[in-house]
Amino acid sequence: MEKVKRKIIKIDEDLCTGCGKCVSPCAEGAIEIIDGKAKVRREQLCDGAGFCLGVCPTGALTLEERETVPFDEHAVHEHKKTLADKPEYNITMKCHLCGTTEHDRPLLPIKAKGESDWVCVKCIPRLIHG
Ligand code: SF4
Repeated sequence: MEKVKRKIIKIDEDLCTGCGKCVSPCAEGAIEIIDGKAKVRREQLCDGAGFCLGVCPTGALTLEERETVPFDEHAVHEHKKTLADKPEYNITMKCHLCGTTEHDRPLLPIKAKGESDWVCVKCIPRLIHG
């Protein structure tokens, strides 16, 4: 398979605790916990968007630019069909301030005092203005 230079997730296994917080937020289902560590088993599933970065409590996730296989949307589509019955990929995220779910309002990952959490777009002004 051809290789391209693009952004892709990098996982520092020394920092990863295997908590699994990064699994469900990945819209492509690219991250798995294998032997207690987060892994991207098939790199064509990772689009390098970096949504997982904000939820990692240890800073184990970063984006790097390097040679790898191209992102494959068709592979993601097929892969996601296999995740429907896997609970670790189907956790509904909630705003930690008001409890609204990702199905009702867009949520964004935030980090404060070393803790990662989610906040909905309606509650963001509360974070900014108190
Ligand atoms: S959120 Fe961070 S520490 Fe937890 S499994 Fe993912 S990479 Fe590892």
